[in-house]
This record gives sequence, structure tokens and C-alpha cells, in this order.
Amino acid sequence: NVRHKIVVMGSAKVGKSSLITQFLYGTFCSKYKRTIEEMHHGDFNVAGVHLNLDILDTSGAYEFPAMRALSISSADAFILVYDVTDATTFEEARALRDQIYETKCSTNVPIVVVGNKTDLAGDREIDTATTESVVTVDWENGFVEASAKDNVNVTKVFKELLAQAKVK
Ligand code: GDP
Ligand code: MG
Repeated sequence: NVRHKIVVMGSAKVGKSSLITQFLYGTFCSKYKRTIEEMHHGDFNVAGVHLNLDILDTSGAYEFPAMRALSISSADAFILVYDVTDATTFEEARALRDQIYETKCSTNVPIVVVGNKTDLAGDREIDTATTESVVTVDWENGFVEASAKDNVNVTKVFKELLAQAKVK
């Protein structure tokens, strides 16, 4: 029985809730609904191992720094989401990553950085090659581009994170 506490962070409207909903329930809603903070649970059997996932969805507003620090402390793995059509959200992901390392007092923390909304190819502000090299080479974090809408690479995000959590 393996239990993981995962927190999903990133700017507002990048698709944090949509990625979780697609992964756990196989649904997508194009209507935006603001998240305050929501805990989800997933139970999986992978190769005879029972996986218990606690997935904390956050608002993205992070008005209360103390609450953000608390969310970070409570988790053992992180998904940082940005929107490939909005470059400022990538900068926010970088700031969150720095804060995770600071709060944890360690860089030995599983993190996967996710560029979401790849289905909006015509509106892209950041290209795959640049962000992939920044994230995997400079930051040394996991990197996945995904579309919660089209269910592309959504499972891969969680697989990648769990693979990291296993070795760390
Ligand atoms: P959150 O604030 O980060 O939780 O973002 P949401 O999951 O609530 O999504 C914000 C908006 O973006 C909603 O209108 C979603 O339907 C939309 N959205 C989320 N993921 C995708 C995606 O992969 N592609 C497109 N085109 N829209 C998405
Ligand atoms: Mg949300």
C-alpha cells in the first residue's frame, strides 16, 4: 500500500482542476468554475501495488502565503501547471518551484512541470523545445505537455510524478 500526497499548483485558469478531473473521472468541462481548495482521492492497482493518491487542487490565487506554505509542507510530490498560450504563467511556475524548495528546505522533491492546453496550437506563446530544455536541463524537473481537453498526456503527468517519487 503506497500513499502519495500530491499538490497541483499554478496560476489561475491554466487547467489544474481540468487535469485532475480528466485524470480521475475522465471528464472535461469548458465552463470555468473557480476552485478554492479541494481534495481528491484516487485508488489504483498498478502491477499488484495498491496506490492511494491524495490530490490537492489549489486556487492559483495564493492570496495567503501562510496557506500556500502549509499546502506545500503537507505534500510529498508536486504538479506545477502553466498554460502554453500564456508565457506569464510559466514564470509563475518558476516562482512556485523556488518556493517549494525553500519551504521543503530541500531540492529532493518530486516535481513535474506541465504545459497545458496544447490543443490551442494557434495561440501558443511558448514553444516546446525551449521550455523542455529549461525545465529538464536547468531546473532538473519532469516535463510534460498536455491537453486536459483532448485527454492528451494527462495520465503521463501522474506516471512521471510517481516514477520520480519512487526513486527520490
Ligand atoms: P484552474 O483555474 O487552473 O483550475 O483551471 P480550470 O481547470 O478551471 O480551467 C480554466 C479554463 O480553461 C476552463 O474554462 C477550462 O475549460 C479551460 N481548459 C482547461 N484545460 C484546457 C485544455 O487543455 N484546453 C483548452 N482549450 N481549455 C482548457
Ligand atoms: Mg481550479
